[in-house]
Amino acid sequence: MTLIYLDHSATTPLRPEVFAAMEPFFGSTDQRENSKYGNPSSIHGAGRAAYAGLSEARRTIADVLGATPNEIVFTGCGSESDNAALRGIALARRKQVGANRIITTPVEHHAVLYSAEDLRDLFGFELTLLPVDRDGLVSAEDLERALGDGSSVAVVSVMYANNEIGSVQAIGELGRLCRERSVPFHTDAVQAAGKLPLDVDALSVDALSASAHKFYGPKGVGFLYLRKGTPFRPFLTGGSHEGGRRAGTHNVPGIVGMATALALCEAERETEMSRLRLLRDRVIGHTLEMITGARLTGSPTERLDNHASFTIRDVEAEGILIALDLAGIAASSGSACTSARQKPSHVLEAIGVPVEELAGGLRLSLGYSNDAEQVELLLQSLPKIIDRHRQSMPALL
Ligand code: PLP
Repeated sequence: MTLIYLDHSATTPLRPEVFAAMEPFFGSTDQRENSKYGNPSSIHGAGRAAYAGLSEARRTIADVLGATPNEIVFTGCGSESDNAALRGIALARRKQVGANRIITTPVEHHAVLYSAEDLRDLFGFELTLLPVDRDGLVSAEDLERALGDGSSVAVVSVMYANNEIGSVQAIGELGRLCRERSVPFHTDAVQAAGKLPLDVDALSVDALSASAHKFYGPKGVGFLYLRKGTPFRPFLTGGSHEGGRRAGTHNVPGIVGMATALALCEAERETEMSRLRLLRDRVIGHTLEMITGARLTGSPTERLDNHASFTIRDVEAEGILIALDLAGIAASSGSACTSARQKPSHVLEAIGVPVEELAGGLRLSLGYSNDAEQVELLLQSLPKIIDRHRQSMPALL
């Protein structure tokens, strides 16, 4: 049975082209044949070959973002990029101009939220969480009000696309408000990279986080775009790698793989997203029609082309996910409350999902390997699985 993988928001498989690009940088067992495994900081040939790979990857990523190569800082993952952006910018800007306030949203990934909370609890910053509407979107008016003249604000962070509910924020508009007040603006683009335009000037962002494993690259590598001149205090200290902004010997194969993956996604983005949008709309339409008590979470219009997320009344996500798995379909609850042991999703709570629906989150995130046939198989199985589940849980009905 072929796996129907519908969990691309959690992670994606490595594309074969990406693996092929990475391979030489691991070095072969016969070291005479392959000399790209060196430390890119070394002077010898093996080091220079690794450095060349690193530089090319940096340029490739910068080109996709419309940035300059030295504005790209390689990191170990999306969480690290978020942590570095929040902590690095807030602490540096406070030192520079005395600004002491952080503005973000209640629907951010915990990599941003917990960093902001640490800055409040350990470093005495004031934390403002912008209101979000039922789709999880923030309004420009609310940001404008929270910014004031901007002089007290150290950093603003608003995610580009939400991992749980797929909503896409109007980053360009929000960024311009920050730009007008010279307030550094960060966006967590971990779910957006490879799916939405990343032009950092059009988005008016000063910092942007991304993670390779979300766009068919390897796990354990990410990057932080950091606009030239943005105040920043390094989060990982040690060697002078990455222009002193992130110490640590580079994960060269990972970085090369990340750049290859991003370039491939960017080249295919429009065609692939149009293809996935049709599949997504079929999933959303059919699920809402066939499953009583199913509700779309996130914006019906401002959403990722590959992302369908629902709450389903009178079901427990965990049971549905296990039944789907047995039917050869990998899906996710979208971090909703999946069992009595787990806390309900902070995102679903923030958008006002009623308590009785919090346990029934279902996220179906499409990607490269999915086609119409797979979607039809899913849509045949899902209503039956939910009916069976409901019959086995009479107490909930
Ligand atoms: N930000 C968002 C929106 C995410 O969806 C994720 C991962 O799910 C992260 C940050 C963290 O990325 P990583 O897994 O690379 O640490």
